[in-house]
Amino acid sequence: MTKYPSGSITGSSPSRAGGPTGDLRFSPIVNSVRLAVFYGSDQPIQVIERPFPTTLREGETLVEILLATICGSDLHTRDGRRKEPVPSVLGHEAVGRIVACGPGGTHLMPGDRVTWTSAASCGVCAPCHDWRLPQKCMELFKYGHSPLDDGSGLNGCYASHVLLRRGTSIFRVSDRLSDSVVAPVNCALATMVSATEVLPTPCRTAVVQGAGLLGLYGCALLRSKGVSRVLVVDTEANRLSRVVAFGGEPVLASLRGCIPAGQVDAVFEVAGSSSVVPEGVESLRPGGSYIFIGMVLPGTPLALTGEAIIRKCLTIRGVHNYAPRHLESAVRFLEENLDRYPWSDLVSPPHPLANIETAFDETRRRTWPRVAVLP
Ligand SMILES: [Zn+2]
Ligand SMILES: [Zn+2]
Repeated sequence: MTKYPSGSITGSSPSRAGGPTGDLRFSPIVNSVRLAVFYGSDQPIQVIERPFPTTLREGETLVEILLATICGSDLHTRDGRRKEPVPSVLGHEAVGRIVACGPGGTHLMPGDRVTWTSAASCGVCAPCHDWRLPQKCMELFKYGHSPLDDGSGLNGCYASHVLLRRGTSIFRVSDRLSDSVVAPVNCALATMVSATEVLPTPCRTAVVQGAGLLGLYGCALLRSKGVSRVLVVDTEANRLSRVVAFGGEPVLASLRGCIPAGQVDAVFEVAGSSSVVPEGVESLRPGGSYIFIGMVLPGTPLALTGEAIIRKCLTIRGVHNYAPRHLESAVRFLEENLDRYPWSDLVSPPHPLANIETAFDETRRRTWPRVAVLP
């Protein structure tokens, strides 16, 4: 792995070329970047090399990936359940170190260790500005979901480098937080910060449906917000084994009757299956909230009556991704709760980028909430 001295790219300061676009040109100390390219679910991922980018435009930031993790959506794409353009570089959960910043004002410096929003947004369209949903920007660019021929091609995190575009929010992270603790923050934890942002009042008892990484993060976040009981339901005992350490009470899904009917203030669906919804609705008290987060695939029809929602005065909210403020809170939450929960137990020992298929195999086995990839 290439190490860059803090505050410098090459040992000498980068120079502005003063070209017509005001681009920043610099001389890298390595000649190439490495990318794990996904060609389709029926083909193996292949690591290729490309020339190192030497020009950055305004608002761009070149980041060396220190560690990436495999999110559920990456596995869905790898296995063909979710269609994305190919060829492409997958991966959006990662931590990295800034190599160079393009022209334009920034609070960041080469050498800074950072996390960043998993998408870039324009900041001025109706979703960004009026609806406070920048993740639904009309010009949205999502890392790990874009074709190789879009821009620099450094669009995903299963690579030695990613080129962050203008409109990406970037946050420094404390050296106290290890790479494996930080890597999943810019998808999983930030999404759960978004999901738990608004709770019914009071919120003393919550149910989390699904004991994967979102569920475990949800547990810790809800406890920090004063929720005294967080019941986490899952079908797999192995996945429930980490729940207690994150402040929750594990409930095996087959054990009916463990969730009190009509007494739960908020239910969080992170199971990815609509089959859990009737039980969730039944458990909610009048005025309770149901937050849907996991059911991101199309095959999720709901067996629900309008009557059940109306008569219980329920609030139903869908949460997809997050806004920059949620990522900023997620980083702060980790810093403030670093010693309270075993964050580093959530991520596997890293697989080298060249063995990324082995890392996907390990993700399919569901032994770890997240499997790590080391470029
Ligand atoms: Zn993700
Ligand atoms: Zn926008």
